[in-house]
Amino acid sequence: MLRITVYNEFIHERKHERCKAVYPDGIHAVIADFVSKGLDCSVRTFTVDNVNTELTEEVLAQTDVLIWWGHVAHNKVSDEVAQMVKLQVLSGMGAIFLHSAHLAKPFVQLMGTTCFLRWREADESERLWVCNPGHPIANGIGPCIELACEETYGEHFDIPTPDDLVFIGWFKGGNVFRSGCAYRRGMGKIFYFQPGHETYPTYKNPEIQKVILNAIGWAAPVRRADKLECPHEVIAPEAQS
Ligand code: ZN
Repeated sequence: MLRITVYNEFIHERKHERCKAVYPDGIHAVIADFVSKGLDCSVRTFTVDNVNTELTEEVLAQTDVLIWWGHVAHNKVSDEVAQMVKLQVLSGMGAIFLHSAHLAKPFVQLMGTTCFLRWREADESERLWVCNPGHPIANGIGPCIELACEETYGEHFDIPTPDDLVFIGWFKGGNVFRSGCAYRRGMGKIFYFQPGHETYPTYKNPEIQKVILNAIGWAAPVRRADKLECPHEVIAPEAQS
């Protein structure tokens, strides 16, 4: 049984009527719901209220895949939590960073670049093209996913070249974006997935849900390092002869 942890800062959905109407219990509640229905798994959720006190090293060590949504409160997540997430990924934990989590502390640390991108809110439609149909994350998805409205993200997206690019987003206004980026870092796997602005019902879209479920399956650890260390090896003199 997979152990999934979802972090969503849960600020927009408590403050803004438009977001509350789409996600009355928060984005994390919708994600936890479709993940627990779609996979044999347990799901725990955390928000900005308890991320620094309850998302502990122990919780992360018992997490197979961490899903992260953040936007306006990246700096409310402590450096300690960000560092713990990074080290757990290097040890083998899977991580999925959604939408504006491109600037989440652990994502930026894992990428090592600014992760800046071009953006605007213009209620534009998006076509999310599968550019790697053999990739497990695109399994069961057609040539493209159509979204009636999304926030526009565009290149240049300042990330390291992905190990696998799974989706390219095209927006009505003409921008294109590397929307589905897969990485391996240490023993862990990371997937960045662009759709999911807080005012649109993107996470209720069955195809978007399917991509996230696929990404969990892909990112789940094959094995996990007990600890990260640089082992000092001494070869016995008799072994050298
Ligand atoms: Zn957004």
